Amino acid sequence: MMHRRALGRLAVSMALMPWLRTPLAAGVAAAPWRSQPFTLGVASGQPRPDGAVLWTRLAPDDEDFFTDTQRKTVAVSYEVYSDDALRRPVTRGEVLTDAQRGYSVHVPLSGLAPDRPYWYRFTSGDAVSATGRTRTAPAPQAAVGRLRLALASCQHYEQGWFTAHRDLAAQDIDLVLFVGDYIYEGSNPRRMVAPAQRRHTGGIPRSLAEYRARYALYRRDPDLQAAHAAHPWLVTWDDHEVVNDYAGGLDPKGGDPQLFLQRRVAAYRAWFEHMPVELPAGQQPGVPMRIHQQLSWGQLADLWMLDCRQYRSPHACPDPLRGGGRILLGCAELADPARTLLGAEQEQWLADGLARSARGWKFVAQSTLINPWGVVTPLGRSAYSDGWDGYPQARERLMTALAAAAGANVVTLGGDVHMAVAADLRRHAGDTASPVIASELVTTSISSRGLSDTVVDGIRQSNADIHHARADERGYTLLDLRAERLEAQFRTTAHPVLPDSRLQRQASFVVQRGRPQVERG
Ligand code: FE
Ligand code: CA
Repeated sequence: MMHRRALGRLAVSMALMPWLRTPLAAGVAAAPWRSQPFTLGVASGQPRPDGAVLWTRLAPDDEDFFTDTQRKTVAVSYEVYSDDALRRPVTRGEVLTDAQRGYSVHVPLSGLAPDRPYWYRFTSGDAVSATGRTRTAPAPQAAVGRLRLALASCQHYEQGWFTAHRDLAAQDIDLVLFVGDYIYEGSNPRRMVAPAQRRHTGGIPRSLAEYRARYALYRRDPDLQAAHAAHPWLVTWDDHEVVNDYAGGLDPKGGDPQLFLQRRVAAYRAWFEHMPVELPAGQQPGVPMRIHQQLSWGQLADLWMLDCRQYRSPHACPDPLRGGGRILLGCAELADPARTLLGAEQEQWLADGLARSARGWKFVAQSTLINPWGVVTPLGRSAYSDGWDGYPQARERLMTALAAAAGANVVTLGGDVHMAVAADLRRHAGDTASPVIASELVTTSISSRGLSDTVVDGIRQSNADIHHARADERGYTLLDLRAERLEAQFRTTAHPVLPDSRLQRQASFVVQRGRPQVERG
């Protein structure tokens, strides 16, 4: 595997062996640290039946670290245990990292037992990281009774505290799904919270160094660190990991495409360097970088995590001056069947997977709201061009794939709109004669501000399939799946600007097996 080789793993998977010292390569610093290098915490992700990916990144406060040539290559050890007291070692090993990869560390573990928790930490020289907890997925054929998830997205640093992550970290769940807007590149002066320390540092990122610094700022948040340390995550991105409302390789502001692609390479690399992910064999961080993936949870569920940005067609009927998404009325381009949101390859991959899946439930996790959410006006229905509404032919094909899913029980999961939504997905939205083929649950944002109540009222009035829509509170969504039913709870706070606010249940919904309608729980 390309990435594994590139990481320069010296010795791995000495499962159940005594601690062995691995000789350090020339130039590797094991010297005492002048300050703690594990300032960004630890993380894990992509659980499989035999392993998961462990992550950390060295980022000491001491700026000399980044200029000291003696420390060009640094050895980092990882340790995995089967108990939270770290008494029963399972495996350990050492990897090398360097400036080229931003001192990030990704360790794809294998050889672990299925369906159980593990604890891990990193060391480097005399420094020791926080301890994280991860877990493996059940074996593919295992009869599994339950899967508990948290669904989260949209965490603007300047618009609220990450209180939702503190609540999420304390939950007894198997996995966190993060569906995009992990960082924001821009600021909105009207939406900043009061404390002056809650501000982006640096300007709008464009270079790799600037994107790295933005991720590092977010990752220093203790609540976000707690959520990563407590559970494995499965992640995708949306637009703000690069720039608001970009589409594929196109600069939303209509800038030089070559320059934009360079910026996208930098942003994608920085994303990779901060996420607990392993890229498919042969892929380098940058472009193109396949991040969509599928995960199975025993015989209980299949889950697809999609990439809604990298392969999409340009926005329909764009405003040549402003660029990006806009509200459309009467745009003939929307009818063009060649326009795509997922790209032809990913679309086919999802359709094939859904048609083949023999598991009881199917989760399709992606970045945004799939149901139409335009409003009825005297000039016709409005459509926001940056979401699925801006790609209606692609949505039509998605509906066909969802309707054809083997054994039904399809639930789509999304974020992006800063609004908690529970809705039915009909073959033809809003047409009560058309069958409900899936259920849709969209999480509100962790901290990013939402639309006004007036706008949300309008959305609800014009879209009968949307049974719940609230944009006034911040939080995340808890999902509790058993063979017979899925329970979803929107956990929110109205006060993300207060550091000590508590999350509460805003609403709960249930989806029964064999009945795709969302019902109030
Ligand atoms: Fe967002
Ligand atoms: Ca977004």
